Amino acid sequence: MIAEALNLTTPGRVALVGAGPGDPELLTLKAHRLIRAADAVVYDYLVAAEILALARADAEKIFVGKKGGGFCTPQADIEAVLVRLARAGKTVVRLKGGDPYMFGRGGEEAEALVAAGIPFEVVPGVTAAIAGAAYAGIPLTHRAYASGVVFLTGHEDPAKPDSSIHWEDYAKLGATLCLYMGMKNLETITRRLQSGGLSPETPVAVIQSATTGQHRQLLTTLARVALESEHAGFGAPAIVVIGEVAALSEKLAWFEAARPAALAP
Ligand code: SAH
Repeated sequence: MIAEALNLTTPGRVALVGAGPGDPELLTLKAHRLIRAADAVVYDYLVAAEILALARADAEKIFVGKKGGGFCTPQADIEAVLVRLARAGKTVVRLKGGDPYMFGRGGEEAEALVAAGIPFEVVPGVTAAIAGAAYAGIPLTHRAYASGVVFLTGHEDPAKPDSSIHWEDYAKLGATLCLYMGMKNLETITRRLQSGGLSPETPVAVIQSATTGQHRQLLTTLARVALESEHAGFGAPAIVVIGEVAALSEKLAWFEAARPAALAP
């Protein structure tokens, strides 16, 4: 108590840790070690239950859910929780789906920790587009079809009235486009890509709940994806892969094919 009053507690630290896309076996050994050692785990809705279960029974587990459209813990509150726990001398794991720096606001959290003078480290995770494509049978680059990959958000800050992404420009890159959070605006995005000159026949794959027991995938075209995915009931969390490489899923899909029929949707 006296130590606390004098602020003499051992300084805590925070690790921003990527939990990967869903399949718990895609967790890194480093993430595994840090989760098991943590005094507190602050986690998102996309983190697999099996991964959370690795935390010590006596570790504090704090859910700061950020489900699209649903309840959203304000970012400032999440940052305040991290700072409070670390200042109380705890070893904190901030567990985020996929990779912490890929559309996960990990950058803002790291900035808040630096501003508060709290030591931190970052453990990369397998991001949803990389994992989803691999499990769906899509090599994101391929000598014959694409020499680049672009990761984009189809959502942006909901407070922004207009998208700051100039989608038409992305039609001209000759690269594979991977859309995170793209389902709600898919109609607009695909229309704008076509206006930019991308062929309506460009192959497009939608991969939902990639790498998990609920994994589903759909192969269609740029012109049809918005309607077809809606009809088939696809929704978040999903990755949309746009480009010639998506068609390779027809022959390279292995994960969905290997799952027992009982699990298929
Ligand atoms: N940091 C995360 C992304 C967070 S944004 C990462 O690196 O993967 C949340 C979005 O990620 C979802 O809307 C969806 O587009 C994508 N996503 C996350 N997990 C996914 C999964 N298992 N399957 C498909 N898409 C997923």
